[in-house]
Amino acid sequence: MDEQNPMSGPDQWESDLSRRYPAARTEAAADHSEADHSERAFRNHEAEARPSVKAFYRLNHQYQTVDFVRRKRDEFLSLDRQRMGIWEAMEFLNTLVDDSDPDTELSQIEHLLQAAEAIRADGHPRWFILTGLIHDLGKILCLFGEPQWAVVGDTFPVGCAFSSSIVYHDFFRLNSDWDHPVYSTQSGIYEPQAGLDHVMMSWGHDEYLYHVTKTYLPPEAQYMIRYHSFYPGHRENAYQHLFSDQDRRLFQWVRKFNPYDLYSKSDARPDVESLKPFYRELIDEFFPPELAW
Ligand code: FE
Ligand code: FE
Repeated sequence: MDEQNPMSGPDQWESDLSRRYPAARTEAAADHSEADHSERAFRNHEAEARPSVKAFYRLNHQYQTVDFVRRKRDEFLSLDRQRMGIWEAMEFLNTLVDDSDPDTELSQIEHLLQAAEAIRADGHPRWFILTGLIHDLGKILCLFGEPQWAVVGDTFPVGCAFSSSIVYHDFFRLNSDWDHPVYSTQSGIYEPQAGLDHVMMSWGHDEYLYHVTKTYLPPEAQYMIRYHSFYPGHRENAYQHLFSDQDRRLFQWVRKFNPYDLYSKSDARPDVESLKPFYRELIDEFFPPELAW
């Protein structure tokens, strides 16, 4: 832990999400999430996060600016760092150390397998299972030396006004884009209904992995990967003025995916070795032996 990395690891943010959005819902309920903003979720939303998580949000909201996102996109989206297969990337991500208790916390591979296994148990298609397996591989950004606030955290559009539904919205007053004449307006640098593909999201593991994997996956899977941390969009229904009809249609899949990310964590620890053959075959069905990272 240091000033740039106040949490014990990136997963402390995910634990805080399950506190904010308690598991009141079933898979079926997730399909109508606009309608069922439970009061419970709101209450938890307002309750204080742990000090380390709050410190993390302060950094995230302060430093995710248009300039910052442009720089990170230039730096990482050329994908010329490393060539690795998917399983190799999973093992690489697993070397990420979390200072919290290893007896209670799942390893990175365990979280990925648990999400995938829960999706598989519900009888979803193979591409959906695969999406669960890989959805957090973008967190290898931490291993490339990026601070937590530039890897995880709820994502949101930059270049337009920050929605008041974003957790710890007040911290955006520290952001240098806060009183920018254009960026502080509702649509900012974007056309209304521009479609999210034309919108720059705050930088993190979603956007990065989307670019690494997009050519190999169906659009539903691309959306799940690219927007799974966009809680203001898929849980709070914010930024509707930037959504296209396609975004609205495909966000149903982002919402379908979310419970597997947040609520499979309490299930039994998956047995990595016994699951490996099934998942290696699934990976080979969609991906080449090596991808550009
Ligand atoms: Fe994630
Ligand atoms: Fe996750």
